[in-house]
Amino acid sequence: MAFENLTKRLQDAMGKLRRKGKVSENDVKEMMREIRLALLEADVALPVVKEFTKAVRERAVGVEVLENLNPAQQIVKIVDEELTKTLGGETVGLNKSEKIPTIIMMSGLQGAGKTTFAGKLANKLIKEENARPLLIAADVYRPAAIDQLKTLGKQLDVPVFDMGTDTSPVEIVRNGLLLAREKKNDYVLIDTAGRLHIDETLMNELKDIKALANPDEILLVVDAMTGQDAVNVAASFNEALGITGVIITKLDGDTRGGAALSIRQVTGAPIKFTGTGEKLTDLEVFHPDRMSGRILGMGDMLTLIEKAQQDFDEKKAEEMAQKMRENTFDFNDFMEQLDQMNNMGPIEDLLKMIPGMSSMPGIDQVKVDPKDMARKRAMVLSMTPEERENPELLNPSRRRRIAAGSGNSVVEVNKMIKNFNEAKKMMSLMSKGEMNKIPGMDQL
Ligand code: GDP
Repeated sequence: MAFENLTKRLQDAMGKLRRKGKVSENDVKEMMREIRLALLEADVALPVVKEFTKAVRERAVGVEVLENLNPAQQIVKIVDEELTKTLGGETVGLNKSEKIPTIIMMSGLQGAGKTTFAGKLANKLIKEENARPLLIAADVYRPAAIDQLKTLGKQLDVPVFDMGTDTSPVEIVRNGLLLAREKKNDYVLIDTAGRLHIDETLMNELKDIKALANPDEILLVVDAMTGQDAVNVAASFNEALGITGVIITKLDGDTRGGAALSIRQVTGAPIKFTGTGEKLTDLEVFHPDRMSGRILGMGDMLTLIEKAQQDFDEKKAEEMAQKMRENTFDFNDFMEQLDQMNNMGPIEDLLKMIPGMSSMPGIDQVKVDPKDMARKRAMVLSMTPEERENPELLNPSRRRRIAAGSGNSVVEVNKMIKNFNEAKKMMSLMSKGEMNKIPGMDQL
């Protein structure tokens, strides 16, 4: 998960003030030195670090115990507010045109995630607005890019306009727009070519497309993993094209996160979305305040709730709750839950969105091994339908068969069944509101 190290360093820096009744100038100086180092180490651009630390320092000196907040809490509040400001302050949505189609042009280096993002955005617009987008494949240098877009189009049932690789991108866009107007598509998403590095020809081509299409949105797609370089790339694209928004992709990776923190300040263009995985649904609206909370380890409950709403089928959730109440939760339900958990992404990332969790001792050790999930799945798949519905049928000989069938040892099968039974018992108690009967609960 991005920002892991930064979060820890910032928390350490601010945590030192925790027991102080009053914060001296020296305390603030010391803390700011650590925050500055932490940001630089996370690859945040130097001018951005300077501006940020100056703003925090000015507000933090002389902080005293006020109302309900102790000095450390007040400093966290100041850092949070300034970080939110650095990230852009307000959430900014897509620019939309008054009349159709709204034209959105993607730009960015090769491999940044433009094509993937075009697919994700189309998916979002269809789901949320019942939109009818048209995708235009204007990357004529990589035939694979056109195929990739076509595959996405098929998956989403969205038309993809292309003219192969022998026509100029401007010509393709011109024809694509004509088609969109004729078919009354409400959005046009133009996927453009990228290069490995900024070059003159590429920039001129993008400028020509811009001049022709007059897009409502020129989005720059930036790979968060590229660190400091992302900022230079963003500045060049902005200079040439005047970008209207930024998409930061691959925030699911182990990135230090500096790009996300610098780009708004450097380009002046708002970050609109972040990419958090390779799947079409791995797209998040960028909210500066929530991102700041996440970076500071204060969690992001709102995004967690939205994710749950997006990924969970409400009807199924209600069915599941009913089963828990009636204690009829079986291995079919268990497998469905495993699949839903898989859809939501790594559990350890989700846990960190819960306020306070990221600073819990041992949270870094929480890792749900995808292999372990796959193993459990294989065991359930090796059961007969009757066994899945009636776990009490699972006698030793059946367990031996399941072990052999799924390539596991009997010990592992026994352990999985034991876990299942414990979880089932706990869910039943919880759903009946008898939390106090859960072992250990009375000691919390
Ligand atoms: P393009 O050259 O800019 O069009 O980049 P692509 O859309 O082809 O993406 C390049 C690679 O990055 C592909 O393997 C994508 O699956 C991957 N990718 C794109 N966005 C994300 C993201 O948010 N997270 C992760 N982990 N991978 C991504």
